[in-house]
Amino acid sequence: MTNLLSEMEKYDHEEVVFFQDKEVGLKAIVAIHDTTLGPALGGTRMWPYASEGEALRDVLRLSRGMTYKAAAAGLKLGGGKAVIIGDPKKIKSEALFHSYGRFINTLNGRYITAEDSGTDVRDMEQVHQETEHVVGIERSHGGSGNPAPYTALGVFSSIQATLGQAYGDENLKGKIVVVQGVGQVGTYLIEHLNKAGAKVFAADIDHDRLAAKQKQLGFEIVSEESVFATPCDVFAPCALGAVLNRWTLPNLRCKMVVGASNNQLETPEDADRLKKRGILYAPDYVVNAGGLINVYLELEGYSAEKAEKMTLGIYNNVKKVFAIAERDNISTSRAADRMVEEILEPLKKSSNRFQEKRAPSGRAREQQNHIH
Ligand code: NAD
Repeated sequence: MTNLLSEMEKYDHEEVVFFQDKEVGLKAIVAIHDTTLGPALGGTRMWPYASEGEALRDVLRLSRGMTYKAAAAGLKLGGGKAVIIGDPKKIKSEALFHSYGRFINTLNGRYITAEDSGTDVRDMEQVHQETEHVVGIERSHGGSGNPAPYTALGVFSSIQATLGQAYGDENLKGKIVVVQGVGQVGTYLIEHLNKAGAKVFAADIDHDRLAAKQKQLGFEIVSEESVFATPCDVFAPCALGAVLNRWTLPNLRCKMVVGASNNQLETPEDADRLKKRGILYAPDYVVNAGGLINVYLELEGYSAEKAEKMTLGIYNNVKKVFAIAERDNISTSRAADRMVEEILEPLKKSSNRFQEKRAPSGRAREQQNHIH
């Protein structure tokens, strides 16, 4: 990608920073998409990108997604993301994450990092030794712990909101829900669904895991191939992205799609295809913000009760999206984007936008208070 500034202009990215440290094999790119609402927060992805161009495209796309997710969740956060180029199995070292942490620190809190694909809590603990501007660390260090239970709670609330919209009745008793993927989020989601009296079907490519989870939770197994064609009220993608596409859409036998996976639509046009088929889609980034809400609270001083309360607010955000879709006769996916733009655009032009105060995070403040 040679025309970086033009590329940044296209989706209004504020800043892109490149870091390298030959001594430790670090090559990283941080993209700060938008800080209208607050500091840019987003995880650090480590991936063996085939080229720098591919890494750059990914970080630009992902950072923009974070702006939308944070704004839709009503958080005082902007959107950012970082990528470290390399195979996590080959390049990871404590020295690399220390060096990365020192670089992140030079951004003075304009960008706050966290774990993502290829990085984990232990890596972020190394980063945390060099900078306060990292979230998603261990609870024992003032962190928020595993985000999956909150993501699942947000998905469950969204299912209730979407049932209410489609049927005028939110009760899950006897409703059929097909869950694709019984990983971390899928597991917690099935617990909620079972408790609410839903009839759950689930699929996973990891058949041993699926069998173990069936024993633990109780649900009916469907094959990963028939997951789309199983007649149901709710299809809940909790495995991977791009599952809603021109090949899967004609097979869907559900009334609504509400799940945790990021980037469920392969293309924006797939949202219109869903609308045409009369399938109500609850937009992924509105639905799956529970994990982001959970880590965000580390900045304010973490509390599990507050995380739960704020995550339950996702219900209202989903309802708001449906109202905008009806108001403007557009797909729910476009309505979610419009909801965010209606929050951001007026603020961007006003003096009320977030100004970088270079203040220490909540955790840092606590630590400082402790020292003095
Ligand atoms: P996970 O890796 O714990 O679980 C994913 C599960 O999906 C695994 O059991 C895997 O075997 C299964 N799977 C993969 N491909 C499949 C396929 N084709 N068919 C059926 N099953 C398949 O991940 P997770 O943390 O539970 O997250 C699930 C999804 O939600 C991911 O897309 C993730 O990006 C998204 N998400 C997660 C969080 C979170 O808090 N963990 C937050 C926001 C979004």
